[in-house]
Amino acid sequence: MLTKFIESNGKKYYPVIGMEIHAEMNTKTKMWCPCKNDPFEDEPNKHVCPICMANPGTLPVPNLQAIQNVMKMGFSVGGNIANFTEFDRKNYFYPDIPKGYQISQYKFPIVTDGNLAGVKLTRIHLEEDTATSTHDKDDATLINFNRAGVPLMELVTEPVVHDSETAIHFAKEMQLLLKTLNISDADIEKGHMRMEANISISLDPNIFGIKVEVKNIGSFKSLEGAIKYEFKRHIECLQTGETIVQETRGYDEASGTTKSQRTKENSADYRYFPDPDITKMYLHDNPVFEYEKVKASLPELPNQKRARLEVLGLKKDTIELFVTQPIFGNYFDSVVMESLENINFINLSANYISSDLAGAVKEKPEHEKEEQFPEIVNFRELISMIIDEKIASRAAKDILTSMIADKNITPEKYAEEKDLMQISDEARLFPIIQIILADEKNVKSIADYKKGIEPALMALVGQAIKQTNGKANPTITKKIFIENLK
Ligand code: ADP
Ligand code: MG
Ligand code: ZN
Repeated sequence: MLTKFIESNGKKYYPVIGMEIHAEMNTKTKMWCPCKNDPFEDEPNKHVCPICMANPGTLPVPNLQAIQNVMKMGFSVGGNIANFTEFDRKNYFYPDIPKGYQISQYKFPIVTDGNLAGVKLTRIHLEEDTATSTHDKDDATLINFNRAGVPLMELVTEPVVHDSETAIHFAKEMQLLLKTLNISDADIEKGHMRMEANISISLDPNIFGIKVEVKNIGSFKSLEGAIKYEFKRHIECLQTGETIVQETRGYDEASGTTKSQRTKENSADYRYFPDPDITKMYLHDNPVFEYEKVKASLPELPNQKRARLEVLGLKKDTIELFVTQPIFGNYFDSVVMESLENINFINLSANYISSDLAGAVKEKPEHEKEEQFPEIVNFRELISMIIDEKIASRAAKDILTSMIADKNITPEKYAEEKDLMQISDEARLFPIIQIILADEKNVKSIADYKKGIEPALMALVGQAIKQTNGKANPTITKKIFIENLK
């Protein structure tokens, strides 16, 4: 029974979404041959051989790493890793699929069940990518086989999503997981990761509506656009009595609409059957798949990292930054590794990394950011200096900026050279404070403080800090004022 509905003209419409996400694996070689897996090679048909060009008489040899990648994904989502698995031929004719069939998995996928970001999964299987075709100006179609036979993982969810926010959150978490496991570059713009949304609307909470499958979704924003457009279109169809046909539609980003591509074929059309050229596999029983080793090889997963950083007391935004942009998370881990009992050190490090350091490298291209980071020892020294009240936060920010610009700068030495050290010496602060207390313009503040108005004291302390260019130690400055105002 569906509970989430969209209300329109006094009626309830029940929306349902199921996702299908493809991800190109970043294995060294293709799925069935020793060709380099590099679908973005500029030179067409550079990484090709008789196997991936489907010459008669060739035989596919499965890529172990690709299978283990899907196993890793399965373990990460708490799925069921099949013991028995096999590959099937999915028959259809298209110029980019030279064998006349795509090798995929049908009845026995590598993974079934599991859960990702709260969305129940149906299956995760392995197949091969197609060649790419381009249509030139003379109306000819050119086929580039660099991508043909690249290992492609497909993940299918149950129809349990009901709004675009959840769909986007799910897809983002999947992308993060692929990157964390380092099994796919998962770049949507480059087509490493491709999203399809199956969408339906029903007037009856007990029966699913007829679904359409929307392809050509090139960004998270398009995913939202496609879902919203289809919800609206379905509701309008239901209101006008127009029939909804089960079909594949393509999203057009420019207009924010979808267009019918073809009426949906069903699985019978593909005449699936097990590929007789590929051996049956037993992932648990055959030691070649290293079931236990693969299971034990998982890195810290995003949710595990979130939980760990939460225990350290980090703010939610900081945690998300560290989880979704691991260069910052890893840097933070290295900085605090030896100081996990020091809450002050942890918090200050988290703040300076998430705001100052992240801000300083914001404009740099992704691959250059990490190069800007100061040496861990120097960053630790900087944080320790703040804790020991050797420098004020204003100076700390300036020193950090200099450390990012010049790797040779070490904070303590630099602070001394540039006279940025905080002044904590009472003998040096006292004369400054005496002048402030004697200044006529402060008569009112002094009187106010003596009447018990606390902020008046802070105004005086502020003057001392200002006169020392931010270097007067606020704690000690305040103490001297209090003593002299008794
Ligand atoms: P097909 O045979 O057309 O590929 P499947 O049953 O395999 O259909 O489901 C494909 C995807 O469509 C899955 O993600 C599934 O959750 C989703 N789906 C199935 N039925 C519906 C529906 N009525 N509305 C929305 N999504 C659906
Ligand atoms: Mg399908
Ligand atoms: Zn090849």
